[in-house]
Order: sequence, then structure tokens, then C-alpha cells
Amino acid sequence: MNTIGIDIGGTKVKAGIINHEGQILSLIEEQTNKQELMNQLLSLIERLLHNDDFKIEGIGIATAGRVDVENGSVLYATSNLPGWTGIKVIEMVEERFSIPTVVDNDANCAAYAEMEIGSAIQVENFICITIGTGVGAGIILNGNLHRGKNGGAGEIGHMVLIPNGRQCNCGKRGCWEQYVSGTALTLDIKEESTFLNQTILPENIFKHAYDSNPIAVKIVERFIDNLAVGIASLQEILDLDCFVLGGGVIDSSPYWWDQLVNKLKTITNQSLIIRKAKLKNNAGMLGAALMACTFATMKLKVKG
Ligand SMILES: [Zn+2]
Repeated sequence: MNTIGIDIGGTKVKAGIINHEGQILSLIEEQTNKQELMNQLLSLIERLLHNDDFKIEGIGIATAGRVDVENGSVLYATSNLPGWTGIKVIEMVEERFSIPTVVDNDANCAAYAEMEIGSAIQVENFICITIGTGVGAGIILNGNLHRGKNGGAGEIGHMVLIPNGRQCNCGKRGCWEQYVSGTALTLDIKEESTFLNQTILPENIFKHAYDSNPIAVKIVERFIDNLAVGIASLQEILDLDCFVLGGGVIDSSPYWWDQLVNKLKTITNQSLIIRKAKLKNNAGMLGAALMACTFATMKLKVKG
């Protein structure tokens, strides 16, 4: 079975034809057209459907923001996707193409993909944490996504890590996202800039720390300490089989992975298992496509 998977992010939209094993058969990537997002979505689907080589039996859409999965609408999208809040995604897509469609939050889709074909196959209880510009997470409990009452579960980026800490765009202070994310690293570097005798990009900070630049070491130590505290707290709440870490910072993990493992050993007496996400930037798109595959199979079964 083939489905279309689409991942709508603040900067890029990725759309592909995916088979039930998660192989990408066709792929289109574009800059997000924030003003005309719905039209862009419909146009991408139309172009993929034009390919007669593949029969498409479902469409899965991963989007940033909080999603009402049952009604197929976006409950809340940040200012990153203006006008996207309240959009009835499924209604508009199904009306146009008459193909069974599902929509979910992008972090949930990524977790689903890691469970189906990634680094958490047959793991019943885990959380997939994506650390990029921001922080997102998808929670799998007993083999199912835990979305919460309003689709808001897994917003760990806005758990308070440092009371009265840095101001966050959510209105609170000291959120995880302000201390453990790409944005946080940019702030850290800016704060320490007077002590740095060179310009360091956030993506290179781990390499500089590895090479013993003292300011970089200080920034990375704080980053790892905060990440470890966050992970250990989540483990106390959820008692998981493992943690899957993904997002942009994973690209530099050879420089800091052991440090995190060792830190976790010192702050908790539980033996935590952490794994690197396998599906990288495609996780959201693949998860959406695989969800659509499960949904379409279910519909076929009901039809008999
Ligand atoms: Zn926040």
C-alpha cells in the first residue's frame, strides 16, 4: 500500500509518496508558503497524485501546533504559521481528493515513525524528544500515542526547568526550550560573547567544547546538565522503556552523547536507556504516511 505523507513546518514543507515499509518513492520539498498554506498543501497532493505509477490509498499530514485528531483540525498553531489555527485540514483535503486522510502533530508523527520503522521498534513505552530550534515530544504509552485531552501532551519544551529563568514566548519563565534547544544555545553564546575570542555558531558549540574551548565547555555542560535533569524528571513521571532523542542537535551527538549518558548515571539511580532517533528530518513525513496507511487499512477492513 502507498500513501502520501506531508510534514508542514515553520520553514519547510516536505511531501512524499511512501510505501507501507516506509520507503520514500517520490519526494517534493518547498519553503513554507505561510500566506497560502492550504493552497500549497492541496497543490503538493495534486502533483504527487499526478504520478500514475503509484496508487495512493491514504494521506497523512504532520503539522506543527496542537491538533484535534478526531475532527482533523488545527486547534492552535504558533505565530510561526499565521492563520493556520482553526483550519479544518481533513475536511478540505478529503472534499477535494476523496482519499482517507489523517492529521496529527509533527512530534507525534515522528514518535510514531520511530516506533514503526525507526529506533524504537517493538518498544511499548517511550518518548521521542526532538531538539531543534524548539523542543517537541511524542509520547508512546502501551504501544499507542498519548495525545492528552486537548492534543497538547508532550509539550515538554514548555515545562519549567529553571524557576524565574529566561522569558519564554509562551508567557512563562524558565521553560526547557529556553535552556535546551538551538534557540537556547544561541542565547548562551550571546551571553558569553564578551569572553569568546572567536565567533561560534550554535551548531558548532559541541565541537568547540570537545576541543576544550573553556567557554564552550561551560555552555555545553550546562546544556547537558539541564537535558539530563529534564530526562530524569520525565522518567519519574512516566517510567519508560527508553528515550529517543532526535532533531538538529543529534547531528553533533558524537561530541556529547557519552557526557549525557554519564550525567544521567550520576543524577538518577534508575538505569535509563537513551537512543538516537533513526529517521532524522524525515520522521514527521514518514510517521504521517504510516498513520495514513494504518487508517486506510482499517477502513478497508471495515468495508470488508
Ligand atoms: Zn515556554
